[in-house]
Amino acid sequence: MVDLVSQYEKIKPEIDKKLSEIMSSASFINGPEVKEFQTELENYLDVKHVIPCANGTDALQIALMALGLQPGDEVITSDFTFAATVEVIKLLKLTPVLVDVERDTFNISIDAIKKAITPKTKAIIPVHLFGQCSNMDDIMAIAKQHQLYVVEDTAQAIGAKFISKDGWTKSAGCIGDIGTTSFFPSKNLGCFGDGGAIFTNNDELATTLRSIVNHGMGKRYYYDRVGVNSRLDSMQAAILRIKLRQLNSYIENRQKAAKYYSDFFSQIEGVEVPTISDFSTHVFHQYTLKIKGINQFEAQEFMKEKGVPMMIYYPMPLHTQKAYDADKYNHSDFPITNELCECVVSLPMHTELDEEQLAYITSSLKAYLTK
Ligand SMILES: *Cc1c(COP(=O)(O)O)cnc(C)c1O
Repeated sequence: MVDLVSQYEKIKPEIDKKLSEIMSSASFINGPEVKEFQTELENYLDVKHVIPCANGTDALQIALMALGLQPGDEVITSDFTFAATVEVIKLLKLTPVLVDVERDTFNISIDAIKKAITPKTKAIIPVHLFGQCSNMDDIMAIAKQHQLYVVEDTAQAIGAKFISKDGWTKSAGCIGDIGTTSFFPSKNLGCFGDGGAIFTNNDELATTLRSIVNHGMGKRYYYDRVGVNSRLDSMQAAILRIKLRQLNSYIENRQKAAKYYSDFFSQIEGVEVPTISDFSTHVFHQYTLKIKGINQFEAQEFMKEKGVPMMIYYPMPLHTQKAYDADKYNHSDFPITNELCECVVSLPMHTELDEEQLAYITSSLKAYLTK
């Protein structure tokens, strides 16, 4: 699905040199690389504050902690996403309210959000799934009307741009109150281990977030609140600095591969290629097809025999998961997610795909679909 070895080969001299410098200096935690990375990412995203942390799941948890939500407060999020988003809501004893998604973008449904709002609703977490933004114009309007916080889960969409109908453009994750991301190796900006970050344009929230990632400390050894220990280490920050300089070209490579796939599969009966909405660029963390009547697991097995990895993101709606109160939902309230879970397949998507590989992948799947 990803080729991190070839990607590393291209930047190996720079990375190896930097890592050996850090090892010689033994400045592993809170070293200058972390601060430099923070500033460079702030500039790249055009956001006031970046707070590095240990991973994308922590980033979400810390964001919700900073908003001061109380047990029982309801947080609306997408039924069709990676479990981390809903996991942290539950961990903080908040009440997740899962809602259906839009069929074309896979992102949280605006109508479904409106229907799910109650007097207990305190926040919305849109997940910018597979690399393109949710409809932030509508989400921010709903949030304003009902006085809700918005936390953008940008783990899959760093570098994507939201294009408002009011004429402005902003980076994914920098529109709501707080944005979060992950630097897990296979993400669009990945390090060589775990890493994450939190974004905000709000000075007060930034101060709270910085305190929470550092045990709730304000002044040294004065603890203002209960926090956590969530750090990005110097080696990961150094790797991310090098890769951040490549991020735009990495995104272009992904977009080129996506275009190859879409040109090919839009010619095939029963296959729906990803939609690029007019309010967002698409950075293609995943390239996901909808295929009518497909047996996804059989197709996956067929592709595996051809040597092509293919994944099913996601095979099961979160509202059917035992851990997330499956019994409180009506299955029929999630027609789109239910349908998507039965028809989506994701093809290999990364920065190193060449024409030969793309031709092989597409013809392999075509062979399955036309057999
Ligand atoms: C990867 C991911 C996360 C979690 O990131 P980690 O760094 O693995 O903790 C959260 N949300 C979404 C949508 C993700 O894809």
